Amino acid sequence: MGKEDYNIILINLDGLRRDRVELCSTLNNLKEENCFFSNMFTVAPYTFASLHAIFSGMYPSRNGMNAYYNIFKFKKDEITTLPQLLQNEGYYTCCDIINKVVIPNQGFDELNIFDEETVDFKQRHRDLIKKLANKDKFFLFLHFTETHKHLVREIVKKYKQESNDDEFFNLKDENIERYNSYLPSCDSYVSAILDILKESKIEHKTILIFFSDHGTSIGERKGEKFYGVFTYDYTINVFCIIKTPEKLNKKIEGQCQTIDLYPTISDMLGIKLEENSMIQGKSLFKMIENLENDEREVFVETGGLYGPWPSSKKHNVFCLRSKMKKIIYNETPNSWEFYDLKKDPNELQNIYDEENNDVLEYKKKLMKKFEDNNIDLGLKI
Ligand SMILES: [Zn+2]
Repeated sequence: MGKEDYNIILINLDGLRRDRVELCSTLNNLKEENCFFSNMFTVAPYTFASLHAIFSGMYPSRNGMNAYYNIFKFKKDEITTLPQLLQNEGYYTCCDIINKVVIPNQGFDELNIFDEETVDFKQRHRDLIKKLANKDKFFLFLHFTETHKHLVREIVKKYKQESNDDEFFNLKDENIERYNSYLPSCDSYVSAILDILKESKIEHKTILIFFSDHGTSIGERKGEKFYGVFTYDYTINVFCIIKTPEKLNKKIEGQCQTIDLYPTISDMLGIKLEENSMIQGKSLFKMIENLENDEREVFVETGGLYGPWPSSKKHNVFCLRSKMKKIIYNETPNSWEFYDLKKDPNELQNIYDEENNDVLEYKKKLMKKFEDNNIDLGLKI
C-alpha cells in the first residue's frame, strides 16, 4: 500500500492553548512520539477565519473570509478546498462540525452537524471512525468544541454586565484554574480517538493530525476574555501534531502557519497542486527534513467582535512575527507596537520607536504582506 492510499483524520481541538499541551498526558505522549510543531501560528485567531484559511491554504484576505461577518464572502467558486482536492483523488470526504458555516462546506460526501448541547464527542467520533474504516480511503475533519463550550458558558454566566470587565482580568489564578479544569476531558477525547484507530485496524494506513485553531485568553490583556481581539502570542501560537504510519518523530521549532497544513497533506499523499494555484501556505516537509534554512515569517490578522476597538466587518489588527521580534499595527486607533520576544516573551513592553532600524525593517515586511494580500490601509512609511 502506498502513501496515496492513506486516510487523513484532521482534528481541531478548538481553542486549546499551545502552552497546555504538556498538561495533557496523552497529547503530550503523542507529541513526544510524533511530529510536533511547537511554533505553528494561526493566520487569524478566531474559529471561522482560522478554519477557512486552513481549508483553502490561504490568508483570509485572499480567500474572502476576512472578517467575522464575511462568512458568506468566501470565494467558493474560485477556490479548490482541501476536501475538494481529496474528493477529486477518490477520497470519501466527511466531517462533523458545529454548524454548516464554520468551514467551507464544499467537497464533502457526508457533512454531519452535532448539537453542542447534547453531543458526546467521544462516542460520536468513535462511531464515525468505525463506520468510515470500511472505506478504501477517507478524509475526516472533526471539530472538538468542548473546552470552548464550557469556558464561554462559565465566563458569560459569571460576567454578565460589562461593568464587571475589570474583575475578570484581575482574577488570573481563577481563570487559569477554570481553563485547566477542562483539560482532562480534552485529553480523554484524544485517547478515545487513538483507541478507535487501533480497534478499527486502520492505524497503519492513517495520518492523524491534531491542531488548535487559536489559543484562548486567561486574562493576559484587558479587553480580551476569549480570543479574536488581539494578535498576542497566547492566542496566535497554536500547535500541530502529525502522526504518520511511518512514525516520524521530529520536534520542529521553526515558525510555520496553519495554512501550511493543506500543501503538507497534499505533499504527504503525493498529490501535486496546480502550478497556478492560489495557495499561500507552504508544505512543511522541508522543515520536517531539516532542509529549510530561512525562517518563515508569520502574518496574522483579526478584527474583534468585542474589546477596545471591535471590528466585525473588517480586520483592523495585524502583526508580523519572527522568532525574535514582532510588530503589530492596530488600524483603529492607528497605533503601533513592537516587541522583543527574546527578552519579553509576554509582550508587555512596547518598544515601538519609528526611528529604530529594526522597527523600520519589520514595518516594511508587514507592508509587503499587505501588498501581497491586497489589504489597502492607506499606510505609508
Ligand atoms: Zn475556535
